[in-house]
Amino acid sequence: MKTCSYCGQSAPLTKEHIWPNCLIEKYESLLTYSKRESKFYKGDPTIKDVCAHCNNVLLSKLDSYLASLYDAHFHQILLPGEQASISYDHELLLRALLKVSFNSARADASEKVVKAHKGLINFMLHGGYRPPVELRLQIVTASRAINLNEGTEKFLEPRHLRCAEIPYDGPMSHRFVVRMIAINCYWFFLVLPYKNEPPHKWRDLVCGLTAWRMNLGVKLLPSVSTMIIPVNKTTYLQPTLLGNLVHAFHV
Ligand SMILES: [Zn+2]
Repeated sequence: MKTCSYCGQSAPLTKEHIWPNCLIEKYESLLTYSKRESKFYKGDPTIKDVCAHCNNVLLSKLDSYLASLYDAHFHQILLPGEQASISYDHELLLRALLKVSFNSARADASEKVVKAHKGLINFMLHGGYRPPVELRLQIVTASRAINLNEGTEKFLEPRHLRCAEIPYDGPMSHRFVVRMIAINCYWFFLVLPYKNEPPHKWRDLVCGLTAWRMNLGVKLLPSVSTMIIPVNKTTYLQPTLLGNLVHAFHV
């Protein structure tokens, strides 16, 4: 019998959605990109390596939490010039996002990236401590698309669920991986070390991230429960942003 990817027990394994089912249901259609096959398919990706207890008891709480944040915040498509706010429980949000990232990594990331998540499994399942992970949020508003020939204007809207690796190649990129979980206008970034790193390496990394070509937003602090992201800290859906994430975007 195979073992559960979370608790490591031998038990019958159940089908687990990479994205919480309660989120997927909010989208009319979802296209999934298979990195291994370099193509899209309709439907939502699943994996089958989680036991029923982890899936239906421990992890489903995180799914419900993400769905409640969707209803409170993420469903909203923000227009250019709008500020955003988010009220959150840092630990639950981080656990829920790590879970999506870990699920997605098992489906199509390298062994090294999967391993970076494995040290955080206990935190995903139970919480209770502060793991060495940085959580950032970038607000990406809709952008105006003007068609001069037709004299029309419409909004290009970020309306998607995406989980992908960010091709960060700045200082310390060999020691950390940056993962993105984008839910409509709310693009979260998780920065995970491949192994435990001392504070000065983290500092070098944060300097590198801040100066990097793609803006990875603001750090979500554990001690804060509501963040307001002012307009000058948001960005909008634009070709350079998408260009940096070529493999991640496929709509
Ligand atoms: Zn399990």
